Amino acid sequence: MSAPINLPPQVFRQAVEQAALAISITDAQANILYANPAFERVTGYHSEEVVGRNQSLLSYRVTPDLVYETLWAQLRRQRAWNGMLVNRRNDGSRYLADLTITPVVDGDGRTSHYLGMHRDVTEVHRLERQVQNQKAMIESVVDAAQVAICLLDERDRVVLDNQEYKKLIGDLGREPASTLLTLLREQMGGAFDSARAQRQSIRHREVKVEQPGQPARWFACAVSWFDEQDASADAFYEPNKRHYLLLTAQEISELKRQQEAIRLNSLSALLGEQERIQSLRETLAGAVFQLEGPLNTLTAAVRLLERRREGNGEEAFDVAIETALRDSRAALDTLRACMPDQRAEAIQPLNLNEVLRDVLKMSTAALLAAGVIVEWHPAQALPAVPGAATQLAAMFRQLLANAIEAMNDRRAGEHSYERVVRLFTQAHADHVEVVLEDTGLGIPAEWRYKVFEPFFTTTSAERGHLGMGLSMAQDTVVRHGGLIDLDPDYREGCRVRVQLPTAAGGIK
Ligand code: FAD
Repeated sequence: MSAPINLPPQVFRQAVEQAALAISITDAQANILYANPAFERVTGYHSEEVVGRNQSLLSYRVTPDLVYETLWAQLRRQRAWNGMLVNRRNDGSRYLADLTITPVVDGDGRTSHYLGMHRDVTEVHRLERQVQNQKAMIESVVDAAQVAICLLDERDRVVLDNQEYKKLIGDLGREPASTLLTLLREQMGGAFDSARAQRQSIRHREVKVEQPGQPARWFACAVSWFDEQDASADAFYEPNKRHYLLLTAQEISELKRQQEAIRLNSLSALLGEQERIQSLRETLAGAVFQLEGPLNTLTAAVRLLERRREGNGEEAFDVAIETALRDSRAALDTLRACMPDQRAEAIQPLNLNEVLRDVLKMSTAALLAAGVIVEWHPAQALPAVPGAATQLAAMFRQLLANAIEAMNDRRAGEHSYERVVRLFTQAHADHVEVVLEDTGLGIPAEWRYKVFEPFFTTTSAERGHLGMGLSMAQDTVVRHGGLIDLDPDYREGCRVRVQLPTAAGGIK
């Protein structure tokens, strides 16, 4: 029930006259009885021109009939109608009218008049359409892009994504964005949050996604942030910003696999070269070692003879012997000089998991040929070890080759047993430990230290073994400030333990 009207009638008239909206009052057949000045401004018709004429004079004749039918059906039920009509101005130009028609019901319950109020919304509509068109265009471009794109709100909820991103949902699980962002955060540490705080874009960061039982996948990711003005009504006078994160991810697994194959090939070639040099050093060191013994004995014998004869004659013999000794020593020096230098290699921070993974990949053929099963137990996270990558890889490859050989030797003696290599890595306070177990012949406890001596071998020399493998491995480990030893309590085969320090100071 409305309150009693105390306002004089002319106030109502003045309010309608001065309203900014185009207002018209019609009879029940939509014939115009009154039009206010704003109506004149919007339509271009003077009041006198339109009074007595039907409101349909404003129709541009393109609004579908259904719209008018709905309009009139609503009015017949004595309900207000609101909608958009395409109108024609007096000068013939077109405009879009946002119109509200309200029936005026008399004391007998009959519709006596209609009150029409409208405004020109052509420009607003044009802008709205433009925004819609741009949105549709952006969405189709985003959808067609061969890069996974997704937009996350402040709570990390995906508010927009594209087809490529949807494909990733099938591949990486329900929330690929959260997987990729977690890996990015892990990789970048504090730099991620400071980039977010300063709204600095993150460009081309490669992340590796590892899933159990599947090959690793690589993605080149980029992140940028942007703020959006909150469009809700309560933010009208107090602008509120919403923060969004835009993540793009392009799969580069194939490229990475190619790069990896090239890297492994060159590492393999480098190791081959290193092993060739090592075997040459081994051979020459062997020759020097073999010659040094008899030469020392000969020298001692000559000194003894000299003392016994106390300078009586036989100078020719002395000269001949001295010459032989001098020539022999010169020959030894020549041999030593022929020993190739070990390649100088830069010391860099290494992840031993990666070094060992490379070694396993390069030894795949040998492991398959020997029917060896590899059980690989890398530590989740390892601190970096400062080291020479190729030397350490060569050392681990040597240990793995020893294990394969020990299992092959055992196979020759026994018919059925499981040939397994177990490889573990573990992080300790100041070092990283690598344990390599095999199920081969094993090394008796009494040889635990002897096997690290040069030229000591547990295998037949016929197969070209000089017994330098473990001694060279120890040489590499010691040069890295680490320790290598065998577990005397391990009975299944052989367990080699290598400890490498995480800092230059060595293991405490
Ligand atoms: P019409 O012959 O006028 O009507 C089309 C259909 O509407 C008919 O088939 C019929 O079912 C229904 N209809 C028409 N008149 C009535 C009626 N009196 N009672 C019941 N049903 C009816 N139209 C515009 O295009 N632009 C405007 O800005 C506009 N402003 C209006 C303001 C008011 C206050 C009112 C009451 C109407 C307004 N109209 C406006 C509607 C206009 O009166 C016409 O209905 C419309 O323009 C279609 O005109 P027409 O000649 O194509 O068809």
